[in-house]
This record gives sequence, structure tokens and C-alpha cells, in this order.
Amino acid sequence: MGGYPDRPSVVARGSTYRRIRRGADGANISDIMNGGCQCGRIRYSAIIATLDAHICHCRICQRATGGVSIAFVNLPNASPTWGTEPEWYRFSPIAHRPVCAACGTPLGLEFVVGENCDLTVGCFDNAAHFVPTSQFGIGSRYDAWTDTMELSGVRCDDHAAPVERWAKVGTGVPEYAWRAGLLQAF
Ligand SMILES: [Zn+2]
Ligand SMILES: [Zn+2]
Repeated sequence: MGGYPDRPSVVARGSTYRRIRRGADGANISDIMNGGCQCGRIRYSAIIATLDAHICHCRICQRATGGVSIAFVNLPNASPTWGTEPEWYRFSPIAHRPVCAACGTPLGLEFVVGENCDLTVGCFDNAAHFVPTSQFGIGSRYDAWTDTMELSGVRCDDHAAPVERWAKVGTGVPEYAWRAGLLQAF
């Protein structure tokens, strides 16, 4: 892991104090947030100027991520500092995507000519901080997937089969085991 370490919510810089910001999950966050791919080979730190994020429903993003949509946070090109430089997949004449060639994680999108780039919200360590404020590519949006709150649901750690599988390899379900320091990635 390289780049910037996490900083506290308020950073003294001379007489200037950065304001404390509150994320979608209610937590105070710093101006610099870290993230990375599923296998942990690619890590980054990004200067975050806004918690506003957007969802893209376009067919290119659907194909590139395997999702029905993808959440991005838009940043200046210079904002992310890569600990390990990702591989760049040039999927169109105007844009390319940072990916991890080892695990395939889509990390973002950058236009070949442009001042801003996108990082995938889900790859941030604290993805819950971001707030969706706009959407793109709505011509190919799958409306049936836009609001799943009313569907029946189960937590990963309440789902017997995967809990049992993970227990056999000596950990809890990944997202909880990761917090407990039992797994490197996720
Ligand atoms: Zn990876
Ligand atoms: Zn898109």
C-alpha cells in the first residue's frame, strides 16, 4: 500500500481547519480516502472534495463491471495516488479503465482527454460514506433493479450455507472477517 495515510477528520493547516463532513452512513470522514481491488494488489489514496457520487446505467459500464449499474465518484485526474499502478484497459477511442489484471476488479474510468476521472464507489474502503446524487445512461437503465428495498433479504452472516463454507476454511463471512483482520482483501 502506498500514497497517503488516512488523516483525521479535522486537519490543522496553519490557521485553517478543514471542515468535518458527514457521510451517508453518518460517519465523519477525512478528505483523503483509501481503496483498492479485491485481491489487494492495487491500492490507492484519493483526495475527496465531495461525497456526491453518481450511478451509471450505460451498457458499456454494465458490460465492464458485470453489474446492472455502477456507482462512481468523480474526481480530478490528479486526485488518486496509486500505490501500485493499475492496468489500463482502453475500451473505446475516448476512454480507458483502471483494472487489476490479477483479480479483474474494475477500479474506475478515465477519459483520454479530460480533467476528471471516476473511481468505483465500491472499491473504497469506506464506500458507505458516499451519497448518490445523480445518474447517467438512463436510456439503458433496468428500472426493475433501481429500488430493491421492498424485496425479501438476508444478511451474508445469516445465510447458513456460506457461513458453513467459510467456517470450514477457518474464517467468518468475508466482510465481517475482514473487519476482524482475518482476511486481507474484501
Ligand atoms: Zn486485484
Ligand atoms: Zn457508463
